[in-house]
Amino acid sequence: MSRWSVLGSGVAGLCVATLLAERGETVEIVTRPDCRAASHWAGGMLAPWCEAESAPPQVIEWGQHAAGWWARRVEGVVQHGTLVVAPPRDSRELTRFASMTQQHQWVAPAEIEPELENRFARGLFFAAEAHLDPRHAMQQLRDKLQQAEVAIHSGQPSGQIIDCRGIHAAQQQPALRAVRGEMLILHTPEIHFSRPVRLLHPRFPCYLVPRADGHFMLGATMVESHDSSAISARAMMELLSAAYTLHPALAEARIVESGTGLRPAYHHNLPEVRYEEGRFSLNGLYRHGFLLAPIMAEKLMQQLTQEGNHAS
Ligand SMILES: Cc1cc2nc3c(=O)[nH]c(=O)nc-3n(C[C@H](O)[C@H](O)[C@H](O)COP(=O)(O)OP(=O)(O)OC[C@H]3O[C@@H](n4cnc5c(N)ncnc54)[C@H](O)[C@@H]3O)c2cc1C
Repeated sequence: MSRWSVLGSGVAGLCVATLLAERGETVEIVTRPDCRAASHWAGGMLAPWCEAESAPPQVIEWGQHAAGWWARRVEGVVQHGTLVVAPPRDSRELTRFASMTQQHQWVAPAEIEPELENRFARGLFFAAEAHLDPRHAMQQLRDKLQQAEVAIHSGQPSGQIIDCRGIHAAQQQPALRAVRGEMLILHTPEIHFSRPVRLLHPRFPCYLVPRADGHFMLGATMVESHDSSAISARAMMELLSAAYTLHPALAEARIVESGTGLRPAYHHNLPEVRYEEGRFSLNGLYRHGFLLAPIMAEKLMQQLTQEGNHAS
């Protein structure tokens, strides 16, 4: 019997279980293998300063913690920054983005990513940002948990529940809403970006995040919808057209995967640790699961310590 039963093996559940195991607590993860986590489809950008364009200030403050947290626990955290560009006709977008964000410098994009030579006159470079491959990072956390004898199963929970089911907890938490994100995985030997590149556009902003062996995650739509069905033709066309604007060589890339994830969000688009009806939860990670799950899991640990102190 475990003291804690973490429901869900997305990034929230894995970060919480990791910290519980590090504290020497007995913990199990109860999950649903038939139910694909939003975390599986994520880009893996750890980009607190870029996100400030549309996110509340807490995202910058809390998100600065993420790259170090991940780098202490998994391999493959790349700290090469983020490059932001815009087509010449949308260069106003770059000026607007610069005014909404901090910790960037104006650059000639080709100085940062030489393959962008002659394509964009100017860009913004956020040197302190990082990225990882979400699937690889989550697999490493799962492996470490299993080495620490944390059971990951789909049976009945045996301990006190910490609910990390993302949007699948919406029945229990009606305040949660889903934000649909569609994405593609491309493969091309032609492009060798070593950091996420974001393309600003008034209607179809997109980003390309490098993965191993010539693969790139191209994302992502933001649609207020609970529909997790396959990517729409419109989303695919818009993402691919934006990718082509980024670099024409991407027209010859192979589409090796497409997917749709439902981001779990509260009304203010910030995550919360809650205690309701005898169960803890960590949810509402919205578009910041990899960025904010580490600090939210730490906040949950602090709350558990306080509860424990009150109980003793
Ligand atoms: C296209 C896309 C791109 C994104 N890019 C980024 C990014 O670059 N950076 C970033 O930080 N964030 C990004 N995000 C956001 C991030 O993916 C989410 O915030 C995060 O995945 C939410 O994690 P979660 O663990 O709360 O939920 P999920 O990942 O959805 O996990 C929920 C878990 O609950 C399990 N479950 C469901 N029902 C039950 C049940 N009844 N009992 C037990 N378990 C159950 C599921 O199997 C799953 O394991 C992106 C999201 C999308 C969709």
